[in-house]
Amino acid sequence: MTTPTLRRVRETVAALHEELTRYHLVVWTAGNISARVPGTDLMVIKPSGVSYVELTADAMVVCDLYGTVVEGELTPSSDTAAHAYVYRAMPEVGGVVHTHSTYATAWAARGEPIPCVLTAQADEFGGEIPVGPLALVGDDEIGKGIVATLSGHRSTAVLMRNHGVFTIGRDARAAVKAAVMCEAVARTVHLSRQLGEPIPIPPEQIDALFDRYHTVYGQRPAG
Ligand SMILES: [Zn+2]
Repeated sequence: MTTPTLRRVRETVAALHEELTRYHLVVWTAGNISARVPGTDLMVIKPSGVSYVELTADAMVVCDLYGTVVEGELTPSSDTAAHAYVYRAMPEVGGVVHTHSTYATAWAARGEPIPCVLTAQADEFGGEIPVGPLALVGDDEIGKGIVATLSGHRSTAVLMRNHGVFTIGRDARAAVKAAVMCEAVARTVHLSRQLGEPIPIPPEQIDALFDRYHTVYGQRPAG
């Protein structure tokens, strides 16, 4: 059933996993990326428990939007149900990324949203980066928590409490960018906290920054 589109999505998702290691967002086999296959009710996702250096296009797994394997020899990521739930609930989302990146997950462990104190954060996330509920892997609970937190929110990243980061984007590349930016923001705001109390950006200036960034750069918010 492999089509040129499906082949391209497999290659893109495989290649994007290199960005997770390049930016030090993952350890061992943790973390995963998926992409919706345009024009279908399918997604391509990382296989479970496979080393990052072995993540070729052929190793990727194709699932339907309920997480059932359609094509691929390996078992899909243990987070497949969460990714699938997001695609079902948020038709505008074309890519989902999950990491346990260190600084962002440190905020998640405390259940504290990252306050908007950096212009780059206002640009990318349009405000604070919110916290989602503690949910255990395996069924729809994580997906429900992601969707409930990000629906109607400008942020494309959610800190799932005691767990890690999920990001969404119009495509997988945008979701990876959000994961990279989320970790950078988490790190800088954490360091700022060590020096004193970071200064909040007034809401109207956050709005202006967000609007400019998503207009001038020709991007639309994914949420
Ligand atoms: Zn996880």
